[in-house]
Amino acid sequence: MDTTTRHIKYQADCDPTFAPAIKAIPGCEKLDSCIQCGTCSGICPLSIYMDMPPRRIMNLVRYGFKREVMNSNTVWLCSACYACTVECPRQIKVTDVMYALKQMAIKERLYPKRFPMVVLANQFYKMVRHRGRMNEIHLVTRLYLLTNWFKLLEMARLGIELIRRGRFSVKPDNIERRAELHAILDYEKRYPPTEAAPK
Ligand code: SF4
Ligand code: SF4
Repeated sequence: MDTTTRHIKYQADCDPTFAPAIKAIPGCEKLDSCIQCGTCSGICPLSIYMDMPPRRIMNLVRYGFKREVMNSNTVWLCSACYACTVECPRQIKVTDVMYALKQMAIKERLYPKRFPMVVLANQFYKMVRHRGRMNEIHLVTRLYLLTNWFKLLEMARLGIELIRRGRFSVKPDNIERRAELHAILDYEKRYPPTEAAPK
């Protein structure tokens, strides 16, 4: 049986809290002045890989279509090159909007599950937080175990060869005085840069 895809958007699909939450973040206030010229999409070096170009993301955000925005791979592919921000004729900080969306997605766990970039970012953070250093072979292994088992099997021979030639180390590396690193990271967590930290 044929399935029908609905392309019409209804008011009921909007989240009325979404646009105000993004626009309240410094750098994202000018979103409503977007004229949908598409300059950001045209200049973006990664837009050919995005399922929605930056211009469309800007429009969906300002009208509150949170689900569509959060299901898109666009914010995760944005490399923060700032080309869109520099060229926008309305001085909208498109890159800052992308950052704000990424932060919201992480906070609310709204990212595409098993999407490699999200998994890679999370595993990278966990590894650096725990040991103070990153180990390539461990990171890549974790990435493929959590996203694509077949890819792990495909890459196994290359990985073994790189270890054999001494390009990758199997032994994880640790920094000295890890407790100090944890204290710094915990402090940032307790007192994010936007909040006033106690003297
Ligand atoms: S370049 Fe600026 S005004 Fe044009 S679509 Fe992008 S955000 Fe909107
Ligand atoms: S900052 Fe992101 S969205 Fe803007 S042009 Fe660069 S990659 Fe594209």
